[in-house]
Amino acid sequence: MQKNALREFKENYVKTTLKADVIDDAVTAQMGMAYDDASNAIYRILTQARLNDSYATKKGRDTAQVKIEKVLVNLKNKLTNTLRSGVWEMAGAMAEAAQRDLELLGVADEETLKVMGPPSMGYINTTFQDSFAHVAAQTGRMADSVRRELQRDTAEISRRVAVEGLSRPQAYRALRDKVLERQPEFKFIDKAGKQWDSKTYFDMLSKTTMKNAMRETYVDQLVKAKHDLVSVSRHGTKCRLCMPWEGEILSLTGATPGYYTLDQVKANGLFHPRCKHRLLAYHPEIKEALKKL
Ligand SMILES: [Zn+2]
Repeated sequence: MQKNALREFKENYVKTTLKADVIDDAVTAQMGMAYDDASNAIYRILTQARLNDSYATKKGRDTAQVKIEKVLVNLKNKLTNTLRSGVWEMAGAMAEAAQRDLELLGVADEETLKVMGPPSMGYINTTFQDSFAHVAAQTGRMADSVRRELQRDTAEISRRVAVEGLSRPQAYRALRDKVLERQPEFKFIDKAGKQWDSKTYFDMLSKTTMKNAMRETYVDQLVKAKHDLVSVSRHGTKCRLCMPWEGEILSLTGATPGYYTLDQVKANGLFHPRCKHRLLAYHPEIKEALKKL
């Protein structure tokens, strides 16, 4: 390893982490704003529709629903595009970091550098398709929730009509104050039985996806360069899931005998949601130095 390479390696590590955090925070903030804008728009559409007597008719409610579904389709597109371009930016930053790390470790020859470089959009769409699918599923659940809300209003109007012999507009006028107080609750229960509201869900999805992108795209570069060994970053975590793996040397593909593979440690707790750990190209000479990162 060249003189000063270790210091530069560490500097590059810090710089890369900061840059990744900035990208992550920006994407998460943009997604949060898009969600807030959409839920405010839905609130306005619903309130306006409900203030109008035509809300007592199927046509009035259908019009509101169509408008709201449009807002949700726009939200889905906006969130997906924000996430996709965030992953793309992250991939670029991590490709640079990977290249720089291998150069500093003195293991990157001309040939290696040639095969490295930013991943394609095709790679991004394939690798992160689950995240994009989660966005679509969640905005779909939001649309269902609005539909249920409008159906409930309809059912109540019909009940008043049947029980009290009122006309639909009369029945609706009697109910309006109560109806106006209601808002669709954009909540859902996950497989583990935990309740999420949509805003928290998108926040979590963004952070998890961006952290995955940070790791996956770095690993992708190292695999392209046929660099197999990495070490797990350290930040003195208190998390029981990843504590045992701090500083551990891993084999990315299983090509180097005697090490746990990345898949094995992932199956054993490392890189759980919100995990801040990173992987770094490993070189035997830097083992001691990495302990102090
Ligand atoms: Zn962790």
